[in-house]
Amino acid sequence: MIGALALAKALKEDRGSKLKICFVGSHVSALPMEVLAHDCVDIVLLNEGVYALHNLLKSNLGDDLPHIRGIGFKKHGPAGFPVPTLNAPQCVVPQERMDEDLPGYAWDLLPYREKPLDLYRAHFWHAEFSHEKRTPFAAIYTSLGCNFGCDFCMINIVNRTDSAEHVDASHSRGMRFWSPEWVGRELEKVAVLGVRTLRISDEMFFLNRKYYQPVLQNVVDRGFDFNMWTYSRVDTVRRDALDLFKRAGVNWLALGVEAGNQLVRQEVSKGSFKEVNIRDVCRTINDAGINIISNYIFGFPDDDLTTMRQTLDLALELNTEMANMYPCQALPGSPMHQIARKNGWKLPDSYEGYAFLSYESQPLPTKHVSSAEVLRFRDWAWQQYFSNPAYLDLVERKFGIEERKNVESMAAIRLKRKLLGD
Ligand code: SF4
Repeated sequence: MIGALALAKALKEDRGSKLKICFVGSHVSALPMEVLAHDCVDIVLLNEGVYALHNLLKSNLGDDLPHIRGIGFKKHGPAGFPVPTLNAPQCVVPQERMDEDLPGYAWDLLPYREKPLDLYRAHFWHAEFSHEKRTPFAAIYTSLGCNFGCDFCMINIVNRTDSAEHVDASHSRGMRFWSPEWVGRELEKVAVLGVRTLRISDEMFFLNRKYYQPVLQNVVDRGFDFNMWTYSRVDTVRRDALDLFKRAGVNWLALGVEAGNQLVRQEVSKGSFKEVNIRDVCRTINDAGINIISNYIFGFPDDDLTTMRQTLDLALELNTEMANMYPCQALPGSPMHQIARKNGWKLPDSYEGYAFLSYESQPLPTKHVSSAEVLRFRDWAWQQYFSNPAYLDLVERKFGIEERKNVESMAAIRLKRKLLGD
């Protein structure tokens, strides 16, 4: 939103008010009226906006607008004042039309410097902590959405087909899949463009064997030499599928461990997180030759300094090849955002305030500790992890001495935080 608004304002200044600007995306779907309130935004699309955009492009962008489903626009009100208004919603692309109505990526139209996709960079860890391996890079989806509804997650808000104010991401959970043939064609395209480092962005790739099995088997059969990563839940990892993942080039699995304390974790994952032994799951994945990036969140509503310490202790014990550590944010569209608004919890007063690593970051306070305490703990915990000798030894052993030095250089960068007086 920060970049998109800056661009929209600059375009309006340069091209005048006749230029129509339309916003789409998960934040827009979460808070369409707030986005429409910006002077530089003329139209918003609800949910993924595929059919609304088609109809918008066929329209005169004028008196057709009240008849296009799935958009919000500005009516002319009294004395010519613009009045933001939402039309009736439009459906998302149904499963049976995925290959037809979302027919693929125009990779060749993306800007590049010398060769396609060389302006895109993989995560540092995905490239095995080597900056040279980060480009060219591409990320694709083979499915959209997730069947679960965790409190802190907003990803399903782009499936929204109900504009009522109380609606959050957990009300439109569900998955849609492209066919394995479609996925095969896209993989072929990026392979021909020279991409090796590839992210499978699906929110929940490692869930349904019926879908992931043909996709991965195709990668094995075609001999694409990809270095890939995918998401999984701790409780959806299947030991007997890991060999196929590894043979297909999935060298990393991203796991949402979230919290060390089971009660804290259960509360935010709506009980859908079946109790499994996280330690066993990590061992099983590593035994298959796959690295783990584990994700942790500090500052859930029930967290205090003791439970956050438990989360850090678990992270240090698991000592996975990479760890993400987030301060808890009530992201717009998530159930947590609705809960925070209902309870009057303090929310950030700017878009930057929602950014995990920004100077302005303002995480949620918990029932027991302040927003500043959450942020201070999170930043301290991150330093503990990335300066831990056992972790640095692991990086050196698995990836090399240069890679260890790269990690040490990264960890030398201290984040500045307004909330902490920087
Ligand atoms: S956090 Fe993961 S499992 Fe939970 S709703 Fe989001 S994508 Fe699904």
